[in-house]
Amino acid sequence: MKFSLSFIFLLLSNSTIAQQSTDGNLIFYYKKIIQILAHYSLNGRSASSIFEDKAAKFIYQEFESTFSAKPKIHEFTYQTDSNHFSKNIYYFVNNHADSTILIGAHYDHIGLGENRSRSYGKKGIHNGADDNASGVALMLAIAQSLNSLSTKKYNYVFVAYSAHEIGLFGSAAFALFCRNKLPPLALVINFDMVGRFDKNARVLNIYGKKTLLQHQYFFETTTFSGKIHTS
Ligand SMILES: [Zn+2]
Repeated sequence: MKFSLSFIFLLLSNSTIAQQSTDGNLIFYYKKIIQILAHYSLNGRSASSIFEDKAAKFIYQEFESTFSAKPKIHEFTYQTDSNHFSKNIYYFVNNHADSTILIGAHYDHIGLGENRSRSYGKKGIHNGADDNASGVALMLAIAQSLNSLSTKKYNYVFVAYSAHEIGLFGSAAFALFCRNKLPPLALVINFDMVGRFDKNARVLNIYGKKTLLQHQYFFETTTFSGKIHTS
């Protein structure tokens, strides 16, 4: 199966975002999402905290206003030192196509850091603008731009994962859920730390190349002008 990554790369190029946007304002939207998710009032969005819950509510509202319909909440439990509860937020765009593409990003971060921080043991709000407000913002921006891309070739699942930083629990639970409740997936794209994109170096890192059955076609069909590093 041959897919195009061009819609992703279009969103990574600031000038093209402006062209693609129906209201000329996707860049503003992208930055706004990062600023809100990374704000101090969300306290670093640690998994299963009230702050992660606030972030979930915000993402829910963004999906709702983008699609003018209610997104879904996928609740799950996971275990670390004790049992925890959390939720993924997702929206399924059903174009009645044969193939479905899932685009996801985790919205939790490490809260006050401590033993998960690079500054080990230091307590302070870790805002997580890069990891991973940036990925959620890109996922939401692509959801917003779907209409202007006018493709009905695929169904889409947009999903914001919880409880990622402490063990990939949200995405693991959602993978199981997908198998039972959603059409088979042809492609899964996960955005994580897309805020690292350097406009001058213009190198885009894509991981998981070997998981693509026909990756030679996948990477040939891009209009992205920078370097693509795959592994
Ligand atoms: Zn991450």
